[in-house]
Amino acid sequence: MSGLKECYDVVIVGAGFAGMFMLHRLRELGVSARVYETGGGVGGTWYWNRYPGARCDVESMQYSFSFSNELEQEWEWSERYSPQPEILEYANHVADRFDLRRDIQFNTRVASLTFDESKNLWHVKTDRNDEVIAQFCVMAVGCLSAANRPDFEGLDDFDGPIYHTGEWPHDDVNLSGLRVGVIGTGSSAIQAMPILANQASSLTVFQRTPNYSVPAHNQRLEPEYVASIKREYPALRAKARARPTGFYFEFNTAPALEATSEERQRQYEKLWARGGLPFLGAYGDLLFDKMANETIADFARKKIRDIVKDPETADLLCPDNVFGCKRLCVDTDYYAVYNQPHVTLVDVSQKPIERFTRSGIVANGIEYELDAVVCATGFAAMTGSFEKIEITGRDGLTLNEKWRAGPRAYLGLSTAGFPNLFMITGPGSPSVLASMIQAIEQHVDWIADCIGHMRNVGADTIEPKIDHEDDWVQHVNDVSKVSLRSTCSSWYVGANIPGRPSVFMPYIGGFPIYVSKCNEVMMNGYDSFIITGARKPNMPPEVHCTKRWHVELDMEVISPAAIAAKRVPLV
Ligand code: FAD
Ligand code: NAP
Repeated sequence: MSGLKECYDVVIVGAGFAGMFMLHRLRELGVSARVYETGGGVGGTWYWNRYPGARCDVESMQYSFSFSNELEQEWEWSERYSPQPEILEYANHVADRFDLRRDIQFNTRVASLTFDESKNLWHVKTDRNDEVIAQFCVMAVGCLSAANRPDFEGLDDFDGPIYHTGEWPHDDVNLSGLRVGVIGTGSSAIQAMPILANQASSLTVFQRTPNYSVPAHNQRLEPEYVASIKREYPALRAKARARPTGFYFEFNTAPALEATSEERQRQYEKLWARGGLPFLGAYGDLLFDKMANETIADFARKKIRDIVKDPETADLLCPDNVFGCKRLCVDTDYYAVYNQPHVTLVDVSQKPIERFTRSGIVANGIEYELDAVVCATGFAAMTGSFEKIEITGRDGLTLNEKWRAGPRAYLGLSTAGFPNLFMITGPGSPSVLASMIQAIEQHVDWIADCIGHMRNVGADTIEPKIDHEDDWVQHVNDVSKVSLRSTCSSWYVGANIPGRPSVFMPYIGGFPIYVSKCNEVMMNGYDSFIITGARKPNMPPEVHCTKRWHVELDMEVISPAAIAAKRVPLV
């Protein structure tokens, strides 16, 4: 190693929406920052997930940045749920518009981060032998970015290509006329399958757990509609922030069980016809009361049976768990795929896939002959990308050791023992239970305010007090138990991957309550944090974004009392 290492105020890991906006905000503060990104371009999720049919499931007019009025006004979304290429184009547009690329090093994976306690600096090493130093590190590594590739027996024996939806090749993948196998029936598979079925000569789907899916009713956006939203954007965004999910849609807080069965049927039909995630906003108690949930689950199962002609296949596709317990899927013609004669559903719920062979997959003692396999097997969610980096904090403690029994982070923003290390949408924040771009913007603003403050008061380090962190982790855990979401084996609890600790990772108390807590912590002068080296005692930052994130708490729908009364649609 040559002597002097490059030094930055901040190193950001990841150049998805989170890393990009973080860089932009830090530049505004006059702080030097370097971004490292494994991929060859910006966009994160939308750079990697190029599988056919990939698109957002939060409506595009809301699944977009709100920090720049000009950006909001100039960008044109074409569809209600825009496809991956358009979202990636948007990410590239943001990078160009704000001249972000000059501070991003692509094709570079951060391999290790080590805190030097004698100098209060992080040492950053990459897989390309870069070694740099930074006062702060911001982890913008994504909640759904570490692909889960199950280690099936015989994988290497298979003659054909094996794709993962989350690491889809950039060259055209031509599956026309091939016998294609798909493993998994989550959101990615459900989006991809109708298109794969059009291409393949046969499609064999290996299903471990069936999922509920609601029709998207995707459509092109009418210019009048777009113009009306653009006129109202600030008000719309404010309404969105005041909702538990951080995105806006009409929902009903009345309990399902207080309605008659005819009323419920009308309500479910109306929202099924509207489509998308707001279906779960039909009643306020659906994710809190098992009997209420049964009413919507029954409705959805009936829809599956109406669409899928073969009763045995329909039975296999009908989930028997809580509706909305796993992340709800949003589809275009998914269930109808199974009416096509060349599509076969293989149940691997009782016995796992046995092995790959040279020419296919063996399940339930039968060999299915295949030319190509698509693993739509999801992600090591929330913590997977952290696990791949060797992060060493105080006293040689690694993050993997600290999180062995499940992630522990204060507000999902930082973790004790790892000073000056921030996370965007980390475990314990609403993240994946909210519209992610809103969640990202709020975290980035909070972190930028904090770093700006640290500089103003000449502070060396900041990290959460352990008792506050413990209380928050406990609170995240307690709140999760109120919701039926904690009752099934979803990726929210790490259950999709054998051996992961079972902990409900995101904060389910709702976006507005969470944001208010973050504002309070900041305005109380970061009293739940230890700040060292500051010229002044703990105090609120002089410049901050709490106004932008001020939410009028609509206590009727988001207060703890409302949660206790089971009247909050936490879509
Ligand atoms: P990411 O976009 O995941 O970016 C993280 C980046 O960090 C990646 O590019 C990765 O390469 C990089 N990285 C990780 N580790 C390292 C390392 N060690 N060194 C260097 N770089 C590293 N959310 C919604 O709210 N609405 C939706 O409709 C929606 N649709 C989705 C569809 C799909 C297919 C998937 C997978 C997720 C979807 N999500 C959706 C969630 C989505 O992940 C977020 O909305 C958002 O894009 C996350 O942005 P991010 O920047 O936090 O993370
Ligand atoms: P996922 O929801 O975790 O689904 C993975 C699927 O693979 C599940 O059906 C899982 O079964 C199955 N699977 C995993 N390992 C398996 C194994 N060893 N054998 C057999 N089956 C196995 O992953 P995803 O579909 O990629 O979606 C992840 C999340 O990304 C979504 O929940 C959503 O938040 C986001 N996303 C959003 C969209 C969108 O509509 N905008 C699209 C894609 C993804 P089990 O259920 O039994 O674990």
